[in-house]
Amino acid sequence: MENRANLYVYNIGQLATPIGNSARKGAEAMGNLRIIEGAAVVIHEGKIVFVGPQKELDEALTKGCRKLDAKGNAVLPGFVDSHTHLVFASYREDEFQWRLRGDSYMSIMERGGGIAKTMNSTRKASEEELLLPALQHLKAMLAMGVTTAEAKSGYGMELNTELRQLRTTQRLKELQPVRLFSTFMAAHDTPPEYKGRSMDFIQHIIKDMLPRVKSENLAEACDIFTEKGVFNHEETRALLTAAKEMGFKLKMHADEIVAFGGAELAAELGCISADHLLMISDQGIKNLAEKNTVATLLPCTAFSLKANYAPARKMIDQGCAVALASDLNPGSCFSASIPLLYALATIYMGMTAEETLTALTLNGAAALDRASQIGSLEVGKAGDLVVLGYPSYKFLSYHFGMNLVASTVIGGVEYNNQTILTL
Ligand SMILES: [Zn+2]
Repeated sequence: MENRANLYVYNIGQLATPIGNSARKGAEAMGNLRIIEGAAVVIHEGKIVFVGPQKELDEALTKGCRKLDAKGNAVLPGFVDSHTHLVFASYREDEFQWRLRGDSYMSIMERGGGIAKTMNSTRKASEEELLLPALQHLKAMLAMGVTTAEAKSGYGMELNTELRQLRTTQRLKELQPVRLFSTFMAAHDTPPEYKGRSMDFIQHIIKDMLPRVKSENLAEACDIFTEKGVFNHEETRALLTAAKEMGFKLKMHADEIVAFGGAELAAELGCISADHLLMISDQGIKNLAEKNTVATLLPCTAFSLKANYAPARKMIDQGCAVALASDLNPGSCFSASIPLLYALATIYMGMTAEETLTALTLNGAAALDRASQIGSLEVGKAGDLVVLGYPSYKFLSYHFGMNLVASTVIGGVEYNNQTILTL
C-alpha cells in the first residue's frame, strides 16, 4: 500500500524522539531523546517537512494538509518490530498448556508439537491460508503503533514453502499499510529430509534456494538459527558468507539457549543484528559494542518460556546498540504486544523509558538497516508516528500492559481503531 499523504499534526503536548541516521549505542546516546513541548509535525507526500515547536511553524506549509489534533498528548516515532516470524500456518495452543504444566521439550515433540508441527502445516498451507492470519496480526500491531515490521520465512525448510511464505509477505505489502522487511530463514532448523546432515542442508540452501530468492527479489536479509544442536559456527559461516556475496544483509539468532559464541560470530561476519542473546558472553558484548551489529532483545519470548532476560543493562552500559522486538511466532512467543515489551524492558531488564523508546524505534530501524529512512521524527524521514492518548512517553512504562496508542500514522496516513477495522 502506498502511504504518501499530506498531514499536519498539531497541538502536540510532548514530542519525543531519538535523533540520527544510525543506531544509538550505549547509555548516553540511547537515553538522549529530543523532547519538544508544544510541537507540530508536517508531512508532505509521506515525508516529514517540518518537526519543531508549533510557534516556529510557517503556516503556509500546512496548506492542503489533512489535520490531526494530538489533543495535547505525546507523539513518538512509529514503533519498529524488527524480529517476527509473521507468516505461518496453524497454532500450538495445546502445546503451550503442556509446557506450562512442565512437560519436557522431548515429550512435546513426541506428541507432534514443536517447530515440526508448524513446518508440517505451513508446507500444506495455500498462500491464502498463510495470508489471512498474518493480515490479522499486522492489524493488531498497527493498532499498537507498529509502522514497520520484519517478517521471516523459515517454516518450510524446503524451497517451495519458503518461496510461498516470502511471496505472502510481498502480497501483505500491497494489502495493508505496515512497512515490511522480508528475511529469508530456511536455516531455522534441519528438516527431516536432512536429519543428521545439517551441512548438506546448508549447502542445499546456498546452491538451490538463495539464488532463487535473490532472482525473485523476495528478501532483503538472510537469517540462521545458530545454536548448540541446531547450526554450528562452520555452517553459519558458510551460509552467511554465501548470502553476503549474493547481496543479502545478514541476521543471526544467537546465544539464546547456551553461550555459543554467536554474538562474536555475528559481529565478525558483519550482521546487521544479532538476536535473542540471553546467554551472551562478555566477549560477545565487547564485540557487538565495537561493531555496528545491533543487539536485538526479545523479552516476550523469555517471558513466555520463563527464561532469564538478556542482560540489557550490562550491554547498554558497555556500549551496545540495543533494539527490542516481539519475536511473534506460533511456538515460543505468540504475542506481538508492544505494551508487554515496554513493561518487561523497563520493569525487569533495567532499561529506562528513554532507552526503551530508542530501542523500539531508531535502533529497531537500524536492525533493519533503515535508520536513515525511519525510526525518528526528523525532516526528510518517513512520516511514521504514533499519537498516544496520554501526555508523555513515560506513560508507556507507567501505565503498563495497556495500549496507549490513539492513532498510528504511516507516511502521513492516519489509522485508528475505526479505520483499522475496515482494512
Ligand atoms: Zn526468531
